[in-house]
Amino acid sequence: MKAVLKTKREPGFTFGEVERPKPGLRDVVIKVKAAAICGSDLNFYVYEKGFCDAFIKELPFIPGHECAGEVVEVGRAVTHVQVGDRVAFDSHIPCGHCAQCQRGMPHTCMNMGLFGHNMNGCFAEYAMAMETGVRKLPPGMTFEQGAMLEPLGVVVRPVFYSEVGMANIGVAGCGAIGQFAIALARAMGANKIYAMDINEKRLALAKEMGATTVIDSGAQPEFAEQIKRETGGLDAFIDASGNESAINEGLKALHLGGKFMMVGNPKADLTIKNARTVLTLSEVNLRGNWGRSMFWTWERAERFLLSGKIDLTKIITHRFPLERFDEAFKVALGGEGCKVVFTFGEGE
Ligand SMILES: [Zn+2]
Ligand SMILES: [Zn+2]
Repeated sequence: MKAVLKTKREPGFTFGEVERPKPGLRDVVIKVKAAAICGSDLNFYVYEKGFCDAFIKELPFIPGHECAGEVVEVGRAVTHVQVGDRVAFDSHIPCGHCAQCQRGMPHTCMNMGLFGHNMNGCFAEYAMAMETGVRKLPPGMTFEQGAMLEPLGVVVRPVFYSEVGMANIGVAGCGAIGQFAIALARAMGANKIYAMDINEKRLALAKEMGATTVIDSGAQPEFAEQIKRETGGLDAFIDASGNESAINEGLKALHLGGKFMMVGNPKADLTIKNARTVLTLSEVNLRGNWGRSMFWTWERAERFLLSGKIDLTKIITHRFPLERFDEAFKVALGGEGCKVVFTFGEGE
């Protein structure tokens, strides 16, 4: 089968031919119908050494983890999907029996397979994952929508936990995840939504997704002052940037007892200024977030898309066939678009 490949521990990918995956007992093989580029795929493309060394076990490696497709083969022990089913993969593939899985948090599994990270992914004609991470698409959902469930799902819990109904909230980082957070908060009845980013195009899109005020945090890095002045302090702040300055400003922008959702991935250690004030005395409700709860999050993400409450037409800005992967990654890296999607011939 044709696949986008990392063949050497260096920047870039190649396009080549590898063997189609053969399912083990509990594995599901799909013909990929739609796949999307995520920020973490860019780490593989540019070759962030620490990131790549932590994940890539052997070469050649197939990147990509946001996808949907049609089941073409299943292992003998697979029970809940069959050939012909339309499915999407969660990128977290839980073992089903470790302490975290037994605690009802399989998305934090201690033996987790991370699809497209520590195992081969979906930028290929076929992809394989264990049944525990496979989700059947609801009737009426397109493959392209199906491929968006994984990234959209990332912000479902942070937005629900933020209790956004008539709340004033802030979102830092307006990549696809931040845009989804804004769109969900808008759909769920947020009052004011402040969106921060350093990229003008992303801020323009944030407005379209429902932000009421956008702030260029490159020109105005100390945005908490304006927000506090205008709102008296936010009810919730969702960081989708991982940026130290934005996180500090976000904490400052909350009112006492506000909620802070960590969604972005800081690339290095963080220094929290005035930690006693903004963390302890503020009574902040700080919450981390790793992927999607399985499968509570998926149900909700599916409903948002099927109900038309989240409009993907503005989020998916570029489409490429797989063999034009290099162009696709350059567009994604350039930050001129939002979601870049690979299409596979016949599409739907
Ligand atoms: Zn992703
Ligand atoms: Zn487990």
